[in-house]
Amino acid sequence: MNIHEYQAKEIFSTFGIPVPRSRVALTADQVERAAKEMGGHCVVKAQIYAGGRGKAGGVKIVHHPEQANDVAKELFGKKLVTPQTGPEGLKVRRILVEEAVEIAREFYLSITLDRATSRYCLIASPEGGMDIEEVAARAPEKIVREPVDPALGFMPYQARKVAAALGLKGDLIGQGAKLLMGVYKTWWECEASMVEINPLCLVDAGEGKESLMAVDAKLSLEDNALYRHPDLQAMRDLGEEAPLEIEAAKHNLNYIKLDGNIACLVNGAGLAMATMDIIEHFGGRPANFLDVGGGATRDQLAAAFRIIIQDANVKGILVNVFGGIMDCGVIAAGIVAAAKETGLPLPLVVRLEGNNAQSGRQTLAASGLTIITGSSMADAARKVVKAVGSK
Ligand code: ADP
Ligand code: MG
Repeated sequence: MNIHEYQAKEIFSTFGIPVPRSRVALTADQVERAAKEMGGHCVVKAQIYAGGRGKAGGVKIVHHPEQANDVAKELFGKKLVTPQTGPEGLKVRRILVEEAVEIAREFYLSITLDRATSRYCLIASPEGGMDIEEVAARAPEKIVREPVDPALGFMPYQARKVAAALGLKGDLIGQGAKLLMGVYKTWWECEASMVEINPLCLVDAGEGKESLMAVDAKLSLEDNALYRHPDLQAMRDLGEEAPLEIEAAKHNLNYIKLDGNIACLVNGAGLAMATMDIIEHFGGRPANFLDVGGGATRDQLAAAFRIIIQDANVKGILVNVFGGIMDCGVIAAGIVAAAKETGLPLPLVVRLEGNNAQSGRQTLAASGLTIITGSSMADAARKVVKAVGSK
């Protein structure tokens, strides 16, 4: 689950990570009032579940409250398209008004799971900011990785080592190490899957002093641990999530929308991934990932059908079921019922294998519906790619 920047910053604050003063707003008038509180000179930031807003015009420095109002009017309701949103973009419904800080340097900082070493890993760079991807490509030696021993956690000596690698000097090493420990604590206590601060900034704190501050904040939470964090779960903003995915979650279906045109309905996550691969192998593009689970009911199948055909890009459907615990006879009856209910507007290819497959195939054949059957996974994939291609 993702949360907004302003929510991540609220959480950061409770863990002692310094963030700029800010206020979230839902209307242009609220933005103007907040800008007045900040003294006029502030940053207006669109809140969407994606980064790259700066370059897309979603982060603007303003100098007067009225100017903040104008920028807010332009941003509210607008669909921001950034490299992280996909071509449809994300609609701006909330804006964060933040004090404009005097930035001397921008660093990059994140913690995520490194699957290669099966360890959490803290990643930092002295050259953070909006071009971090470019830094990673041009100068990979500027990206510092500090693996975390799961038994020990992130140790203070590691925090000092990273602070020094960022080029911090004197008092700032201690301050940086404290902040890094706070970031690790946030990650650990929230059971996050990703925390990212880009940029972490060295800012002018007045009287010739400098201090560190999280100027951006991204926090993704591990879905499987959310039940332990009702307070975090309450931060979910359904407006930011794909409506079909929300609908699927209601029926306990694992559905992820993709951008191809062949919908797939599969039991089991591994088989679902293999199905997507084989569609690609034969030159097609999957429209979704959908795992109906090991013991899908008739109602779940019907819901799954309704969800996959609501995607306007879909031109054909591939059902690929391996009956292990599941009975193919039940699956076939469910498919026929769902196909009749939805009027089956698209070519449907079904491959059934395993437990009671023979009876399942008979049910499909006797249904009177135009269902194409596949004798194997490859055969079914080839047939659906052909059916979609000829459409
Ligand atoms: P995104 O990563 O989505 O582009 P950021 O929050 O990182 O959004 O903002 C983009 C850039 O805008 C930052 O790298 C920073 O230079 C500047 N910026 C953001 N917030 C502030 C702020 N409160 N004060 C000064 N500059 C800011
Ligand atoms: Mg950023």
